[in-house]
Amino acid sequence: MEGALTARDRVGIQDFVLLDTHTSETAFLGNLKKRFSEDLIYTYIGTLLVSVNPYKELDIYSKKQMDIYMGVNFFELPPHIYALADNAYHTMMAEANNHFILISGESGAGKTEASKKILQYYAVSCPSTTLLDSVRDRMLVSNPVLEAFGNAKTLKNDNSSRFGKYMDIQFDIQGDAVGGHILSYLLEKSRVVHQNHGERNFHIFYQLVEGGEEDLLHQLGLESNCQHYSYLVQNECANVTSINDKNDWKTVRNALSVIDFDESDIQHLFGIIASVLHLGNVQFEADSKGYATLNKNTELRWVSTLLGINVQVLQEGLTYRKIEAKTDEVLSPFTVDHAIYARNALAKAIYGRTFTWLVNKINDSMENKEPSRKTVIGLLDIYGFEVFYVNSFEQFCINYCNEKLQQLFIQLTLKSEQEEYEAEGIGWEPVQFFNNKIICDLVEEKHLGIISVLDEECLRPGEATDFTFLEKLEEKMGSHPHFITHKLSDKKIRKTLDRGDFRLLHYAGEVTYGSKQPGERPSDLHHVHNIITSWWYFQTSICQLCFMKQFLLQSLSLFFPFVSFSPPLFFGTYTNTHATGRFDDVLVRHQVKYLGLMEHLRVRRAGFAYRRRYELFLQRYKPLCPATWPHWRGVAAEGVEVLVQHLGYLPDEYKMGRTKIFIRHPRTLFATEDAFEVC
Ligand code: ADP
Ligand code: MG
Repeated sequence: MEGALTARDRVGIQDFVLLDTHTSETAFLGNLKKRFSEDLIYTYIGTLLVSVNPYKELDIYSKKQMDIYMGVNFFELPPHIYALADNAYHTMMAEANNHFILISGESGAGKTEASKKILQYYAVSCPSTTLLDSVRDRMLVSNPVLEAFGNAKTLKNDNSSRFGKYMDIQFDIQGDAVGGHILSYLLEKSRVVHQNHGERNFHIFYQLVEGGEEDLLHQLGLESNCQHYSYLVQNECANVTSINDKNDWKTVRNALSVIDFDESDIQHLFGIIASVLHLGNVQFEADSKGYATLNKNTELRWVSTLLGINVQVLQEGLTYRKIEAKTDEVLSPFTVDHAIYARNALAKAIYGRTFTWLVNKINDSMENKEPSRKTVIGLLDIYGFEVFYVNSFEQFCINYCNEKLQQLFIQLTLKSEQEEYEAEGIGWEPVQFFNNKIICDLVEEKHLGIISVLDEECLRPGEATDFTFLEKLEEKMGSHPHFITHKLSDKKIRKTLDRGDFRLLHYAGEVTYGSKQPGERPSDLHHVHNIITSWWYFQTSICQLCFMKQFLLQSLSLFFPFVSFSPPLFFGTYTNTHATGRFDDVLVRHQVKYLGLMEHLRVRRAGFAYRRRYELFLQRYKPLCPATWPHWRGVAAEGVEVLVQHLGYLPDEYKMGRTKIFIRHPRTLFATEDAFEVC
């Protein structure tokens, strides 16, 4: 009917593969926007789910919704996070192998909320026994605890995860969720001692100070006032309207009991957290020679009491450097700047190790004690690509991690596509697109990459400097097309770079890394190593709880424990704009670009945009042909052939594989869908 809006005009297309126009970014964004205006935040690109953060509660996460999606074919219902979760679960059960769901997107995109929704879906929808309920409870309540210690208010998100999380949800042969395991990555430790304007430290500090019981605060030597602690007041942002630290404290305390923390664990844990706050208030003064001395040591005494370290030892560790000569040890005094650096390095290390210990404790409580056979669904929720005005070692690690994920994404997308064509006996021409392997190699190649150079320099404490590091980089990778420094660049670019900076041309954009930022630095390890291993690493101290493991940076190769899982399921997500609910075209366009969504779509459409098992295709479209309606009694593939002949498909528009029909252009299926809607 002329003038009437079809459902498709109004709500857009639910799978980008079916988008009728050519694959332009504008058409892509238009479809997304149309759907967003109807509160339809999810859209597929084949099996990839794209989500736009609505920043408001939508009535789409009820038990009723979960029931609707349970056991239903992926494409039969409108796109939803539950469809993805359900599909992963049923495929895992049917194939008895592991799957993983990768969640990517920039900060505030809704990644963590998505991972919680997936977990809730499994908690509600999987079969249950009373015995297993406690495992599920633990999986669910571990979230607020991890968020308290690992999340913070940032400019983009009031509850931003400042660590990467990979979680295994383990299922037994019956499909019961029987256990879980968490790996945490890249906790942003620098936040303990420094926060950018308008941001906060980790939630737990404010929760403890604001919500902690009087007795507890007294035992820990804490005032019930955030303003008292220099690590908490750098940006006058201690109180945030969207955050209720007092209530959150109660939630965390309760959750700790559910996940088997006894009172002594809890005392130790908060003793250590309090020690970090006291450490932040330790101040130094310069003596007549310019060396650091403590102006009063009340705070240090608290640190000493809470950590069980001799105060003298601690004081020496913060104001002297220990140099080991062949047979001797020499103490070399620090300047005030050095002492502050050492103090901050210690605070970061204590917090980082505490977080690792906490994750280990949570894992103990979720451990599946039964030796039965199990398969897992892995859930990866990491930081997205980060570009700040100043970018430190932490951004370098995060962005490298994203490069690797993009590489994995490329490999698996192409690989699975090629394998499917091969398995089905269909020939195709692979699509060319930018392969970011060149950047991964630049960072990680053995003996040649940036990490190797960094490793070498870190092994030369005292000799290596930021300058020697940069010099070595220039020497080794000066001609690399993705590496630029002040010295290596032309006049125009040189203006945009400081002498100590280097710039990487990442797949998602350019990032300039500098060494003079407040972020985590590899050299921190030496300061802390110095204090910890030399004086109190193995002493009888409650800190042994946190420092049981070797105190070294975890190998970067540990980032990717999940690559062996197959076949993968992907979930991409991105945001609109912060807390307004308005669709910000520029912001969304940028994220579509760096998540590589257009490339993914092109790969999907270049071969055969759409494929479906014969049985399912026939089941859906059989009303369109008298020979197949109401029943086709022969082989499904033959029924499909009869059906598509009747619909007028041209020979080059489709191919018959071994088990599936492959349709080249979305418009072909689109027309079929239209005919189906009308009938
Ligand atoms: P990320 O982990 O990507 O940084 P979060 O998952 O923490 O982002 O989401 C940021 C905020 O956005 C949440 O605190 C919540 O207010 C909102 N949000 C995210 N996903 C949804 C959703 N599906 N529905 C409603 N609000 C959401
Ligand atoms: Mg998050």
